[in-house]
Amino acid sequence: MTKTVHHWIGGKTVQGTSGNSGPVTDPATGEVTTRVDFASLAEVDAAVAAAKAAYADWGQSSLAQRTAVLFKFRGLLDANRDAIAELITAEHGKVHSDALGEVARGLEIVDLACGITVQLKGELSTQVSSRVDVASIRQPLGVVAGITPFNFPAMVPMWMFPLAIACGNTFILKPSEKDPSASLKIAELLAEAGLPEGVFNVVHGDKVAVDRLLEHPDVAAVSFVGSTPIAKYIHTTASANGKRVQALGGAKNHMLVLPDADLDAAADAAVSAAYGSAGERCMAISAVVAVGDIADELVAKIRERAEKIKIGPGNDPTSEMGPLITAAHRDKVAGYVRGAKEQGCEVVLDGTGHSVEGFENGHWIGLSLLDRVPVTADAYQDEIFGPVLCVLRTETYEEGLALINNSPFGNGTAIFTRDGGAARRFQLEVEAGMVGVNVPIPVPVGYHSFGGWKDSLFGDHHIYGNDGTHFYTRGKVVTTRWPDPADAPTGVDLGFPR
Ligand code: NAD
Repeated sequence: MTKTVHHWIGGKTVQGTSGNSGPVTDPATGEVTTRVDFASLAEVDAAVAAAKAAYADWGQSSLAQRTAVLFKFRGLLDANRDAIAELITAEHGKVHSDALGEVARGLEIVDLACGITVQLKGELSTQVSSRVDVASIRQPLGVVAGITPFNFPAMVPMWMFPLAIACGNTFILKPSEKDPSASLKIAELLAEAGLPEGVFNVVHGDKVAVDRLLEHPDVAAVSFVGSTPIAKYIHTTASANGKRVQALGGAKNHMLVLPDADLDAAADAAVSAAYGSAGERCMAISAVVAVGDIADELVAKIRERAEKIKIGPGNDPTSEMGPLITAAHRDKVAGYVRGAKEQGCEVVLDGTGHSVEGFENGHWIGLSLLDRVPVTADAYQDEIFGPVLCVLRTETYEEGLALINNSPFGNGTAIFTRDGGAARRFQLEVEAGMVGVNVPIPVPVGYHSFGGWKDSLFGDHHIYGNDGTHFYTRGKVVTTRWPDPADAPTGVDLGFPR
């Protein structure tokens, strides 16, 4: 029996009428468990209309009203962590503890949104001239849209909508069609928290739904997170249609290991960051750059740890790594490993052909480790988005830095060293938006913004933190004079006001 996931428009589930739908698969079994409605243009228009109608009141609502809903939602989210994590595991495949981590990181942004009163305080300068005061305020944009990827079906939407609605906007989410259920659960919790109808809407679908959001005249801004080619397309198209856009793309994250680093700590970090969530993280470490003569020892330590990772269904508490999202993606990832030797890599671990007993139709692949990877190899050039770690070797820090800075991506990066001076140099010289010093996955906490450089982000704003509040509001400056009735009239003056 397959279930169907419907849209959420105007505060309730709305069955799709387009006649189009897509399959949702349990990656551990390979079975289609669910079908998800794909929205037609008319259905997207209905969601935008609902959001626009809701904006009339929500845009005028008091900060106290908004935060009351957000605090209630935070409590419900906290109480439903497990339920949401189960939905994520059933459709994405990641292990339950990892899914719980994703919910926790999303909750961080809800925490931030609960404190929106402080962030929206604005600025006031009194007496800038005689009896003249100037106030800078920020106001909501209207209807804003979020388009999100499969790999964080709860967290990435929560990077967007809590701040968007806290700022007074209404929101339309187009989640990934591969794992749509978490977004519906979130919609139900928001309704239970008292969010007025139409403030948060979910339309499911593919390019048809996305393109309509990008061109709809009543959508003021678009937040996107996904792969680089689509991020570029979203940025170009939505900008051409006059919308504010932030489009976060793919990555190839390097970890630079200097000769003085604690190699056990570096190996632990490399294995955790490369193979966690089966490498399906935009902040996964996919390239280790070993500097100097430590490479053999570091590779041996990574291999020893990687060989012990237990692969299995995400709902088995003993599993450390789950399957990949689809069979097609698993086959694509395997192709990089199979072609690696021919392209000059040394294949230390080959995870292709891995199977899990009792789950033979799951989208399994084991851990792969490639050493002495040339920069020309496809496994290095492309974002693989699977459990494949490349090791590159350089003689010096400068060579390692140049290698990282030559990458077209600039999402996250990390340095492992005991040398504070080298770490300081690295944080200033490396071309990436998020830098870790002995921290392999430097995803910023909620009150600092998340975003990459180069092909990892198109647009000016990073996501959440102060950039989030800025993205979802526009500035207005009010200059006020209250003349003293006792003053003589100023008279006409055609000069430019000074
Ligand atoms: P994707 O780009 O295929 O899809 C993202 C969203 O865009 C989905 O909602 C999808 O339905 C929609 N979409 C896909 N093709 C489209 C098209 N041609 N036109 C319009 N819309 C389209 O990404 P994915 O495979 O779901 O997610 C994995 C990618 O996301 C990886 O590249 C990963 O690095 C990236 N990602 C980046 C970040 C970040 O913060 N930079 C975070 C998470 C994931």
